[in-house]
Amino acid sequence: MKPTNIQDPEYFHKVVDCQKACPAHTPVPEYIRLIAAERYTEAYMVNWESNVFPGILGRTCDRPCEPACRRGRLEGEEEEPVAICRLKRVAADNKGEVKHLMPQGPFVPNGKKIALIGGGPASLTVARDLAPLGYEIHLYDEWNKGGGMMRTQIPAFRLPESVLEEEVNYILDMGIHTHFNTYVSSLREILAKDYDAIFVGTGAPQGRNLPLPGREEADANIHIGIEWLAGVAFEHISSIGKKVIVLGGGNTAMDCCRTSRRLGGESVKVVVRSPFNDMKASAWEIKDAQGEDIPILNNMPPKEFVVENGRLKGVIFSHVKAEYDESGKRKLIPTGEPDTFIEADDVIIAIGQDNAFPWIERDLGLELGKWDLPVVDRLTFQSTLPQVFFGGDAAFGPENVITAVAHGHQAAISIDLFCRGEDIRTQRPAPTTNLVSQKMGIHEWMYDSSVADDERYDVPHEAKDKTLSDRKVEVELGFDTRLGYKEAQRCLNCDVQTVFNTSRCIECDACMDICPTSCITFTTNGEEEELRLRLSAPAINLEQDLYVSETLPTQRVMIKDEDVCLHCGLCAERCPTAAWDMQKFLYQVTKAGQTCSSLKA
Ligand SMILES: Cc1cc2nc3c(=O)[nH]c(=O)nc-3n(C[C@H](O)[C@H](O)[C@H](O)COP(=O)(O)OP(=O)(O)OC[C@H]3O[C@@H](n4cnc5c(N)ncnc54)[C@H](O)[C@@H]3O)c2cc1C
Ligand code: SF4
Ligand code: SF4
Repeated sequence: MKPTNIQDPEYFHKVVDCQKACPAHTPVPEYIRLIAAERYTEAYMVNWESNVFPGILGRTCDRPCEPACRRGRLEGEEEEPVAICRLKRVAADNKGEVKHLMPQGPFVPNGKKIALIGGGPASLTVARDLAPLGYEIHLYDEWNKGGGMMRTQIPAFRLPESVLEEEVNYILDMGIHTHFNTYVSSLREILAKDYDAIFVGTGAPQGRNLPLPGREEADANIHIGIEWLAGVAFEHISSIGKKVIVLGGGNTAMDCCRTSRRLGGESVKVVVRSPFNDMKASAWEIKDAQGEDIPILNNMPPKEFVVENGRLKGVIFSHVKAEYDESGKRKLIPTGEPDTFIEADDVIIAIGQDNAFPWIERDLGLELGKWDLPVVDRLTFQSTLPQVFFGGDAAFGPENVITAVAHGHQAAISIDLFCRGEDIRTQRPAPTTNLVSQKMGIHEWMYDSSVADDERYDVPHEAKDKTLSDRKVEVELGFDTRLGYKEAQRCLNCDVQTVFNTSRCIECDACMDICPTSCITFTTNGEEEELRLRLSAPAINLEQDLYVSETLPTQRVMIKDEDVCLHCGLCAERCPTAAWDMQKFLYQVTKAGQTCSSLKA
């Protein structure tokens, strides 16, 4: 194998698994260390730079970083990923004043005007990145406040309004011109207003219907999940029948059933057509719903809405079982069991949502492709109409808040380059990186990483009777600073990298002997495939790299398996010649404004 090029910023970025997995590439270990040091304000600001909504995401993030966490790969039986999402909230809950640390307007105008259609996290991120550069930003949303689905869909018992308001307002206070209560019904009209660029962040606002027999007759008591949740959020809906059926197995279904319990639903059931293990909802959302006495009935597709005297009586379900072919494709096969009738006063349909662009005229040159989704470049977020960019759920279909944020950052870079007449593909700024030794004295390091099994701490919950009686009482109390510290200490500091200096190594093998995971091997070089199998411990996770040194005097090479390295630093501590050094690697995705030309200037 060739020696590893550690100058490539992506090499060590990949070793920081959580950061790599975060769509916005938030420097996770960096802010976790700050939390352990009780520097909550700084931890918050590190988050805010990347993910824009630390308090909101600290409660609601879909947390793609957690399955990637190295702690979850350790061998101990109870080892679970670090509670990264909950730690974000510790920083947000305990921070001091932060507004003065953010860009402060009024900003010097640059003469360019941008329209943002939709006021969700994608548009708000674009606004946050572009306003300080002097762009005049006009944000349109059909609702009377900003936040998009973070406001209309995520229930207050998971995300208190005060947290939402605070973080949305940090952005709106940057001098954004808001046009609330304004549904954009024509892109042609917006184009005619001479904006220099337009960003479409309108989400995926159309809830799917279920046109079964009885659907129309029982319309008064059948609700589309996302419309119903918006109705609750804006207090147009304050009650529901005692018996409620929620159809669907995703997170929307979990929010609908839990909201129903708070609005008067005594017997609330979730009925899913697929098996329990195939449900799309996050494990923690399912657990919370079940904890609120909501049974989940699986393998039961709805067949008919039963109506009596013009009023909904209940739903008939058939029974199926799942069969999977060799490629894992699922088929639902009827079991032949008799149908089941379940009584209901109200039914909520939560079976998915779609994009809808009835307001985009089809003769503008803006191409819409499969599923009525716009044709959007995945790197630049540009549509086929050069001055129109898309991001968030509007671009590629429903995802989550952190993905919308990541799109917003990238679209903002494109819009800035576009407005300055630069090439939006070739002029994109590279990430900035920093690699600094953590050594303070002979046996002292600036970070601390103990090799010990350590169970994940549970987040305390508010008393159930209290939360079920008021939909605005937050269920999760969050970690206090003591638990936050303990959980933060579970982080393995994957951003503190083991950097090997070939010329210093005397090949004493001391590092190899002390390494607790046997991830260092000195051996003759070879092809990766066979090399992986003849290391001290076979390196079987092909997704993780081998770190290969230059050839040593004995013609061997040092090979380290990045998969199982604990970043404990014992190798660096033990090495008599300091051939190993533990170096903190900071990787930051560059934001709009920091383009190649401005970095050079
Ligand atoms: C029930 C539910 C719960 C969810 N829970 C979570 C969660 O816990 N965590 C998570 O990460 N994600 C969650 N999501 C998904 C998340 O909310 C979205 O992925 C995210 O908000 C998408 O952001 P966005 O900026 O693309 O658009 P949105 O947040 O959808 O915002 C778009 C805005 O544009 C407005 N709009 C649409 N068309 C027009 C128009 N023509 N003119 C003017 N305004 C318009 C909409 O009304 C809306 O306000 C949830 C979604 C649902 C449905
Ligand atoms: S930091 Fe060094 S000693 Fe610790 S696991 Fe990694 S290679 Fe082994
Ligand atoms: S302990 Fe240091 S000198 Fe000895 S083999 Fe390891 S890196 Fe080389």
